[in-house]
Amino acid sequence: MPSPQRFAALQEIHNRLPVVTPPIESLDDLWASDVFSLAKMKAALPKDIFKSVQRTIRESGKLDVSVANVVAQAMKEWATGRGALYYAHVFYPLTNATAEKHDGFISVQGDGSVITEFTGKVLVQGEPDGSSFPSGGIRTTFEARGYTAWDITSPAFLMETPNGLTLCIPTVFISWTGEALDKKTPLLRSNAAMNKQAQRLLRLLGETDVAPVNSSCGAEQEYFLIDSAYVPLRPDLLLAGRTLFGKPSAKGQQFDDHYFGAIPQRVQVFMQDVERQMYKLGIPAKTRHNEVAPGQFEIAPFFEAANVATDHQQLTMTILKSTARRHGMNCLLHEKPFEGINGSGKHVNWSVGNPTQGNLLDPGNTPHENMQFLLFCGAVIRGVHKFGPLMRAVVATAGNDHRLGANEAPPAIISVYLGSQLEDVFRQIKEGDVTGSTNAGVMQLGVDTLPEFPKDPGDRNRTSPFAFTGNRFEFRAVGSNQSVAGPLVAMNTILADSLAYMSDQLEQKMAAGESLPGAAFSVLKQIMTDHGNVVFGGDGYSSDWHRMAVEERGLENLPTTADSLPVLQRPEVRDLFASQGVLSPLELESRFEVYAEQYVLAIDVEAKLAVQIAQTQIYPAAMRYLGELASSLQLQTAMGLQVSPETQQKVASLSAKSMELSSALESAISQAPHGTMAHMRYSADTLMPLMHQLREAVDGLEAVVDDNLWPLPSYQEMLFIR
Ligand code: ADP
Ligand code: MG
Repeated sequence: MPSPQRFAALQEIHNRLPVVTPPIESLDDLWASDVFSLAKMKAALPKDIFKSVQRTIRESGKLDVSVANVVAQAMKEWATGRGALYYAHVFYPLTNATAEKHDGFISVQGDGSVITEFTGKVLVQGEPDGSSFPSGGIRTTFEARGYTAWDITSPAFLMETPNGLTLCIPTVFISWTGEALDKKTPLLRSNAAMNKQAQRLLRLLGETDVAPVNSSCGAEQEYFLIDSAYVPLRPDLLLAGRTLFGKPSAKGQQFDDHYFGAIPQRVQVFMQDVERQMYKLGIPAKTRHNEVAPGQFEIAPFFEAANVATDHQQLTMTILKSTARRHGMNCLLHEKPFEGINGSGKHVNWSVGNPTQGNLLDPGNTPHENMQFLLFCGAVIRGVHKFGPLMRAVVATAGNDHRLGANEAPPAIISVYLGSQLEDVFRQIKEGDVTGSTNAGVMQLGVDTLPEFPKDPGDRNRTSPFAFTGNRFEFRAVGSNQSVAGPLVAMNTILADSLAYMSDQLEQKMAAGESLPGAAFSVLKQIMTDHGNVVFGGDGYSSDWHRMAVEERGLENLPTTADSLPVLQRPEVRDLFASQGVLSPLELESRFEVYAEQYVLAIDVEAKLAVQIAQTQIYPAAMRYLGELASSLQLQTAMGLQVSPETQQKVASLSAKSMELSSALESAISQAPHGTMAHMRYSADTLMPLMHQLREAVDGLEAVVDDNLWPLPSYQEMLFIR
């Protein structure tokens, strides 16, 4: 029998009714109905104005004020026609959150009447007080002004709450001196840098018609659902997003019966609600399924331009959370909500391409396309090797540290998986003698006869952090709670750097009289000689690889955020971002400061919560149980029964231990050193291990204390959604 509070939660769950959603319209009616899309603009705007907007989007230019005024007018009419009274500039500060500043369309006239007003100026630029957003010291509060500016490449949309609609305008967020204070600005810059270098290489390869190259992203989101009735009883879930204590459930994921099993009806109803809202916002939700752990699910959209996909990913997380609440559930996006079962990640599928040459990471069918492919693929390999530690740093958060390196997620060592056939091709390139292939007949790789690939040269390897999957790379080390902007910025920027290197090399070699194929081949050969060590097709989870990667391959293993964030301060990383015009040294340093602070704060909150729960909930429950045991012991002795004092001893010693450890943790929290680096190390090396030890004692108690006295809902109760 669970405790009275837990029993009340169970009753609440038992009595839940399904949340009925309105009947489903057709996809046509639903699709992007809440988006001020290009199609809507085209219908609403004079031809020349629409053309000017299109040009601005294509060339990422500045919007003319007179054009902006006309667009603003049309946008306002559309939004107010739908009943919106407010608009908001939406931006993405350096936390993983979304920020909004709301303003009314209302304008009061001299005679006291009101009209709606929305000008090009307020559409294009806003001025929220930026002082409360983290900047890592870029701004001091006396110059706290920050600007938001409309990112015209990401369309405006209507956000719905039960009480109305708000027009949302996606924006960048910059300081008044022009430094990027957000995640979108560097993403747009990294895309521009990649575009510049990709175009340069394509032209060197003889292409004359080259459209702007854009990066694309399809992000698979994993999440947990638990019934909301449990959450108020779990301060750890409520405030830290994960359980700090909890004995494993007798039934966990060991049966592998959840993955791709039938979706519980209650969850499916929720998913359908989510997808409906996504479709209205023009987000192409595409797949839904159960994940490995009980209570764990996944949603993935069809891929889009990286910038739009990033905004849509952020919206997806918001929709998942708000919709779950309506269905009496909480959506947990934390990377490790429950110990002992799989955590949640976010696979970021990424490629680059344009309308004239197509997907540049598509192997294609003809030798000519293959040279292009091999160069772009080689550029990625070089980038990931050269900047592997950076790739680790951009997925470094307190939450994600629980996954990386455990046997469920890619290790904290960044390597590249190519699939056996492609791996073989690159091996042959490195050896300089390319004559055959694993696939006889398909591949004859010579200097000017490059290979033909079958349609899907990448098989699957779930243990690699960075895998080629047929026509794109899949970065699997990203955390479920994270914005995808940082990883995309890193991938675009390292690619830009490698493409620039390649073009330099090709130009030199061709100036010295080498043929294009010969030059391309020798550039690739050099790259594989210098960087081939990063390619690994084996089991990334094995301890053998962990040793080999470091000792034989010279790759870095950076297990915690404290180990990996300092990579942002390395000179080569500073040079990379500065030379590609993506982040100035000041902007990069501010990111280091902000992310380091978030890490330290996250662990500080967890540690304080652990102490509080242990001292005010666990210890009292254990004491009460000891009291009960003691009195029943007297009773039993009086009745002449033989009583084993084992349980009593166990409860007593685990209680003493948890008290001792929680006191130790409490004083450790108060002794945290000053200084970012020292504090990060202290969090990783002192606070985390103490929390872990405390957890062992408390989970031990959960196994012996009377269920009726145990205050926290158990894993068994929470994990199985009914
Ligand atoms: P899996 O679970 O097997 O990895 P999914 O189908 O769940 O595959 O997800 C694959 C993701 O990759 C989808 O979001 C898909 O749209 C995306 N994707 C496919 N092609 C590209 C591409 N060229 N660029 C970026 N993402 C892509
Ligand atoms: Mg995947």
